[in-house]
Amino acid sequence: MTRVKQALFLVGGKGTRLGALSANTPKPMQEIAPGVLFLDLLLENAARMGFTDLVLLAGHLGDKVEAAYNGRRVGEATIRVVRESQPLGTGGALAQASDVLDERFVLLNGDSFFDINLRALTAAPLSEGGGRLALRMVDDTARYGSVRLDDMKISAFIEKNPELTGPGLINGGIYYLDRAMVDRVAMPSSIESDVFPELVREGRLEGIPFDGYFLDIGLPETLAQAQRETAALRVRPAAFLDRDGVLNEDKGYTHKADDLVWVPGAREAIRLLNDRGYRVIVVTNQAGVARGYYEEDAVDAFHAHMQEQLADAGAFVDAFYHCPYHADGKVPAYTVADHPDRKPNPGMILRALNDWQVNRETSFLIGDKPSDMEAARRAGLPGYLFAGGDLHALVSDIIGPA
Ligand SMILES: [Mg+2]
Repeated sequence: MTRVKQALFLVGGKGTRLGALSANTPKPMQEIAPGVLFLDLLLENAARMGFTDLVLLAGHLGDKVEAAYNGRRVGEATIRVVRESQPLGTGGALAQASDVLDERFVLLNGDSFFDINLRALTAAPLSEGGGRLALRMVDDTARYGSVRLDDMKISAFIEKNPELTGPGLINGGIYYLDRAMVDRVAMPSSIESDVFPELVREGRLEGIPFDGYFLDIGLPETLAQAQRETAALRVRPAAFLDRDGVLNEDKGYTHKADDLVWVPGAREAIRLLNDRGYRVIVVTNQAGVARGYYEEDAVDAFHAHMQEQLADAGAFVDAFYHCPYHADGKVPAYTVADHPDRKPNPGMILRALNDWQVNRETSFLIGDKPSDMEAARRAGLPGYLFAGGDLHALVSDIIGPA
């Protein structure tokens, strides 16, 4: 299956319950920390999971969204803004963007943050014209309206009702959708109250419960809560993973996609780290480039192939760092003695710590060689030696089982 690369964000809401706060600023563009907008948090998170086409469906105050975001890049991703000509509801906003839609895409509510592994939502194939919702268990559904899940299928939406208190599943505002469902969407309409109930009647709407941090900034008090809590969520623990001998079997200068053989439990280990909110960062020596065995493009292509296969397992790597240098190279540009990036030097790890918001106290490295352990030590991180066997078992031991 091809990895889903498109994520759309509904940012056109009026935010009337926020009152004066949203009179001049769209709800998702509220500041949560100095210089950081709520929407930035959502975009950064989708980008690190490998969504490279980020589309903002703008309406109310769309000029502000466009001025701030259109054409901007976040990591490897590019942002574009599609503006609705008139208020058409969430369904209409999506239908109006039908020209830019991929076959399969993720649609996210721009005024809530649900901290989940999006690749877990998109891993299993989707039926044509169908959809899959990320659901959240809450202690009290009264404020939200709830969702009834039978097996993997959503069998009913239950309207918001102050008398229906108690725990239950709610719509988490993140949807994995097949493009064919958009053709039937009327303008104006609401995805939640018009389109989804129809899909439920046809038995084509699935749900997966997730238990990540969840916050809707629809009310002044929940916006204040976002300002207290969400900026800290950007700072995540990181798992630094060596590649050859840890993720893929080390065949000696492995670089061809066809030669990728996963170490037992490697994809499951990455999935566990993803589900638990860790950044997964690969740091790999690739002296084969300096020796002239292959080029850096081949390294990138190998990593892209890994990402494709990881996506099918509901997993992803946040970033790959490779060191092409070696003292005994044949290619002059890469022939460097004791390059700071080449393990046991810690250069790649230090650069990654600088590039990403990382909580060092809870971060660690896994490698299969003494040079990996030494690089971890020099970077000030605990190093765990993988002596073969099942990588998932080792990661479970380090971070605790699911
Ligand atoms: Mg290795």
